[in-house]
Amino acid sequence: MPEKSYDAIVVGVGAMGSAAIYHLARRGLSVLGLEQFDIPNDQGSSHGVNRIFRLAYYEDPGYVPLMLRARDLWLDLEARAGERLVHVTGSIDAGPAGGDVFTGSLESCEIHGLEHEVLDSATLTSRFPGYRLPDDTMAVFQPDGGFLLSERGIVAHVEAAVADGAVVRARETVREWQVTAEGGIRVVTSRGIHETNRLLVTAGAWAGGLFPDLAHLAAPERQVLAWFQPARPELFTPDRFPVFNLAVAEGRYYGFPVFGIPGFKIGRYHHLAEATSPEAMNRAVNERDEHILRAAVSRYFPDADGPIMTLKTCLFTNSPDEHFIVDHLPNQPEVILAAGFSGHGFKFASLIGEILADLAQDGRTRHDISMFALDRFRQEG
Ligand SMILES: Cc1cc2nc3c(=O)[nH]c(=O)nc-3n(C[C@H](O)[C@H](O)[C@H](O)COP(=O)(O)OP(=O)(O)OC[C@H]3O[C@@H](n4cnc5c(N)ncnc54)[C@H](O)[C@@H]3O)c2cc1C
Repeated sequence: MPEKSYDAIVVGVGAMGSAAIYHLARRGLSVLGLEQFDIPNDQGSSHGVNRIFRLAYYEDPGYVPLMLRARDLWLDLEARAGERLVHVTGSIDAGPAGGDVFTGSLESCEIHGLEHEVLDSATLTSRFPGYRLPDDTMAVFQPDGGFLLSERGIVAHVEAAVADGAVVRARETVREWQVTAEGGIRVVTSRGIHETNRLLVTAGAWAGGLFPDLAHLAAPERQVLAWFQPARPELFTPDRFPVFNLAVAEGRYYGFPVFGIPGFKIGRYHHLAEATSPEAMNRAVNERDEHILRAAVSRYFPDADGPIMTLKTCLFTNSPDEHFIVDHLPNQPEVILAAGFSGHGFKFASLIGEILADLAQDGRTRHDISMFALDRFRQEG
């Protein structure tokens, strides 16, 4: 027998799930959030102190209005939590002059009237001396970018949701669900059975396991993050070192000033291109992982090339076009999926929570999420 029936059940209390629970509870809906591990945890995609937020979105200018709303929601959450979650350092999007990172970021700034400056490599170094990029690099500096505290953001969403009446339970794995004769959904977990009218699945790298038919649309990939102790730490403080998204010959890298734990933080998008699953992933780190990241530090941020302080694995969940998936299931509209955040989703989590609450409550949202529809993959054949 079900313990209780809820307006909504959220599967997975990570970045997206915690935000969804918060927005649902805030609207007075009864909501249950279920998390298989701890809250927060370091098994999925949201650990490692912080995540970049950038407005000069090279991937598609359509993300800019979404990011502006997401930022407002992060600031609301910050005020509610009484704790700083948003750190503004400015952001650098840099690469070769004709490359997509530089041109796309500039285009997003121009289309949406974002404050920005274009800097060549020498000017960038004179402004922010931690940077030593190739001579032909061009950079967009956008002063509103920065980083968010990722684990603290999840905690803040959960604490506010619980204060607003949500029930959140960790160490309870959702195993399956069925539509009931009455049109509700019965959710079977490792600890019991619950009923709901709407099921929101925010399971990160586990989404494919819950929806085998859609597994190819949310493909987990092993990532590694490194923190190096700078030889000149004064060049890598949040007030002197903007976060970056950097395209160079070896790949695309991202990084942060020293914050929270010792070291300058850097990662490479798609690291060694290791497709995996959360169960099979090699969570140990090795010398090759460190070497790949150190090579970029020594070349482009030589004053940060000191001893390794922390090395950690993490998971991306990639969609085929690296845009998100936020939609009702086509043949089961009471089930809503938010997945495939493809290594750039955290900054939007506050907004994805609002959108998921809209979809659960009204079946639609005022935000333009056409880029995230499931049927785009069907159209591609
Ligand atoms: C190394 C790295 C760097 C990144 N850098 C950035 C960045 O700088 N900026 C940015 O915006 N984004 C960044 N991202 C991407 C961003 O972190 C992710 O898009 C985001 O964290 C995904 O959130 P999620 O809620 O989908 O997954 P998660 O936060 O992993 O949450 C999913 C949760 O669901 C739970 N779960 C799964 N299945 C079940 C089940 N059956 N029952 C109960 N619980 C379940 C899991 O245990 C997990 O806690 C980065 C990601 C990585 C890995």
